[in-house]
Amino acid sequence: MKICWIGLGNMGLPMATHLHTAGHDVVGFDLSADARDAATAAGLRTAHSAAEAAENADVVVTMLPKGEHVKAALFEAEALRASAVDALVLDCSTISAEQAREIADAVTATGRRFLDAPVSGGTAGAQNGTLTFMVGGESADLDAARPLLETMGARIFHAGAVGAGQSAKMVNNMMLAMNMQSTCEAAVLAQRLGITPQTVIDIAGVSTGDSWALRNYYPVAGPVDAAPSNRNFTGGFSVALMRKDLDLALDAAAAHGVDTVATAEVARRLDNLVADGRGSLDFSSLIHLIDGTASSAGSTR
Ligand code: NAD
Repeated sequence: MKICWIGLGNMGLPMATHLHTAGHDVVGFDLSADARDAATAAGLRTAHSAAEAAENADVVVTMLPKGEHVKAALFEAEALRASAVDALVLDCSTISAEQAREIADAVTATGRRFLDAPVSGGTAGAQNGTLTFMVGGESADLDAARPLLETMGARIFHAGAVGAGQSAKMVNNMMLAMNMQSTCEAAVLAQRLGITPQTVIDIAGVSTGDSWALRNYYPVAGPVDAAPSNRNFTGGFSVALMRKDLDLALDAAAAHGVDTVATAEVARRLDNLVADGRGSLDFSSLIHLIDGTASSAGSTR
């Protein structure tokens, strides 16, 4: 089976590497030469264009920032046209459910198959092969994709028809954003009260304040090895990408008449970080608006 992988960033590279290590014929492509070089260093074969990577591919995976990038790679850069006539297209990016349905319509109109399969678990989940996949699409297509998903993830949920995976992912990330904001506020207050980060995690992690953000992504360096706070907030899940996810959630909430006051506030704070030049840092750098090391001057929505 030939697999084309488009998007070799923080998530895409470790995910594609798992497929390669499992013995699949993976050819990767990324617009960034640095990302292609990192993939080559990791032992992956890379191509010079999306279409070249997709030539006769049985499976085309996209792991890209936004819906417009997925469309650009599949349609404008002609990865879809180059792939096998019955190829399965698997979009693991986080995009809107509407965009997923538009892409699915265009893919299936050519006789190919499409699943939206966004993920949760962060870069550590991608590296460890323990991601959660939330899949939208036909059961038969999910059955075909399952062995690949099991190579990269620990849990696979069939959320419903095309787009349902994205809707599930969107509400998950709303909660993640707010859990991170609350963890950052609590972390700074705890520090000022003289309680160590490890003590906060030990106690809240088995109490009612528990969350994934607390145990896996503590925003103060020290207790959680894999947390971006231990790497000066580099890598991980960028402020810009979380801001994008909250836009998806706010737009969907507006369309369905749902009051999302806390989501809107975290979105505003992420805007402040972007305005302060911190858009590429991990989103746990929300803590810098609380401890006073980032400017809260800029704001939009
Ligand atoms: P990233 O910015 O690290 O990587 C994206 C890559 O896509 C970049 O290397 C970029 O050069 C490449 N790219 C952009 N447009 C392209 C195109 N048209 N053709 C080829 N390559 C192109 O992003 P990431 O953190 O890997 O996230 C990817 C997706 O996964 C996003 O939708 C994000 O919301 C989602 N996600 C991220 C995380 C995380 O923790 N980082 C977790 C879950 C989901």
